[in-house]
Amino acid sequence: MAERETLEVDVLIVGAGPGGLSAALRLAQMQQAKGGEPLSIAVIEKGREAGIHQLSGALLDPSTLHDLIPDFAARGAPLGTPVDNDNIYFLTETGKLRLPITPPPFQNHGNHIISLSSFTKWLAAQVEAEGIDLFWGFPGQHVLYEDAAAPGVERRRVIGVRTGDRGIGKDGKPKGAFEPGADIHAKVTIFADGVRGHLTKQLYSQLEIGIASEPAQFAIGIKELWDIPKDRLKPGTVIHTLGYPLREEEFGGSWLYAMADGHVSIGFVVGLDYKDPLFDPHAAFQHFKRHPFISSILADGQLVRYGAKALPEGGWASQPSLFVDGALIVGDAANFVNSMRLKGIHLAMRSGMLAGETAFDAIRAGDSSSAALKAYKTRVDASPIKTELYPVRNVHQAFGAGLMAGGAYAGIAMLTRGAGLPDLAGHFGHREMKTIADYYGLAKRDILVASNAAPIDRKLTFDKVTGAHYSGTHHDENQPVHLLVQTDVCHSVCGPEYGHPCVRFCPANVYEMVDNGAGGLRLQINASNCVHCKTCDIMDPYGVITWVAPEGGEGPSYDGM
Ligand code: SF4
Repeated sequence: MAERETLEVDVLIVGAGPGGLSAALRLAQMQQAKGGEPLSIAVIEKGREAGIHQLSGALLDPSTLHDLIPDFAARGAPLGTPVDNDNIYFLTETGKLRLPITPPPFQNHGNHIISLSSFTKWLAAQVEAEGIDLFWGFPGQHVLYEDAAAPGVERRRVIGVRTGDRGIGKDGKPKGAFEPGADIHAKVTIFADGVRGHLTKQLYSQLEIGIASEPAQFAIGIKELWDIPKDRLKPGTVIHTLGYPLREEEFGGSWLYAMADGHVSIGFVVGLDYKDPLFDPHAAFQHFKRHPFISSILADGQLVRYGAKALPEGGWASQPSLFVDGALIVGDAANFVNSMRLKGIHLAMRSGMLAGETAFDAIRAGDSSSAALKAYKTRVDASPIKTELYPVRNVHQAFGAGLMAGGAYAGIAMLTRGAGLPDLAGHFGHREMKTIADYYGLAKRDILVASNAAPIDRKLTFDKVTGAHYSGTHHDENQPVHLLVQTDVCHSVCGPEYGHPCVRFCPANVYEMVDNGAGGLRLQINASNCVHCKTCDIMDPYGVITWVAPEGGEGPSYDGM
């Protein structure tokens, strides 16, 4: 049996998205500016190559990029298409109403329509050029702690991360060449594992980092890339919509961003706190594309790529404790997204920079206790992150009372920059879902069909299996399922109470109820379809689904997304 290796570094960064890579680059810059013994820095990433698991709309606010890499243009940053015009519409079932003015959060002059995957790939190249080691296809599997039982250790201190094993079959036994994951020990570990990061989630339960904040709130964003006739939309056109097909009780909206050469990014966001147990976010996206306004834009076009990802929407009020003994949390993992602007890349980068600075100082001072790492929170509070997020700290929470109430709250927040507004309590989104009996007044029973089922024509609208195919996702079938489901709950209560909502909220048909051969149903998990969106980990009403990282390098292929 192969031995488990232990590696020692000064700083371990978990996740090579914009936040993690910015942390790495800032560390290298601090090293150059301040000199001294070189720090050893390692970045681990579950994707097999740079940017391959990165998905966003995406509109980039370049403010942080200016500060992190002032000569980004000379270095060939792939900034895509500058935004040329903003449009915001309220959709009815067949009509549209253009808002006479574009509210400030939706004004994008100076921002760029980018492929986040390409941008991340470029950022990774900047980090590699600094001589920092990036390990692709190495998912973190467990947070490692100092022995809590050791004399004098009062609170568990993070000492690094164990990466995932390779070469385990679906029966849990080694297959072929078994390689145990490595224990990577670090003086400071920076968790940049993205929205609902599965290691940051361990910190929530093991170190209670969310105990003093409002519950995290999430939405699911489903995105497609299309090629449409080149003269259909001017490159740089940005369209956002509210309204149809969502009802007053559902939070969300859409985007449509026109890039060069007829490439269009189109997507739909739904708050993961909807009440209807039979609602299906993917079906809502298909209805959106069938709206006359949208279908006329996509007519004669072709689907190129598909993807989905959850996004954190709780904002400032839902940030967890950002520092613990031996560790910092950045980016989407810390819920740093401005849900009013639908932007978080620049906030992830900013928090990564500040975490890099803090880690550098801590290591130089020989103190990476939480008392020393608290400087990260002080930096965040004095940074543009707070300036941007504090005024809109409760907007998603306000939308919990409906579109009109949320809109009114958002309007006041914009006028007053958040001053004088009460702090609203958040909620756990999955607890908002009602049972079939409560929502429909029906007797408890298994119901699999979505209340908003949409026609599929494979030209404009596509089923989830086809979507998963267009995501390029791949997983070896012969490995342990990376979705840990308490199936007893699923069969005994979730089906009768909620009608197996996983078959509807998963955008990739991973969960399927199939004939069990005895007149009933059994859950079949098509794990190889998973696009790593994390929705099931968030929205399951009983909280009995846990997403864990599959074998290294597997998952979606978001090249160009
Ligand atoms: Fe997303 Fe979960 Fe479905 Fe995977 S199984 S695609 S993480 S909802």
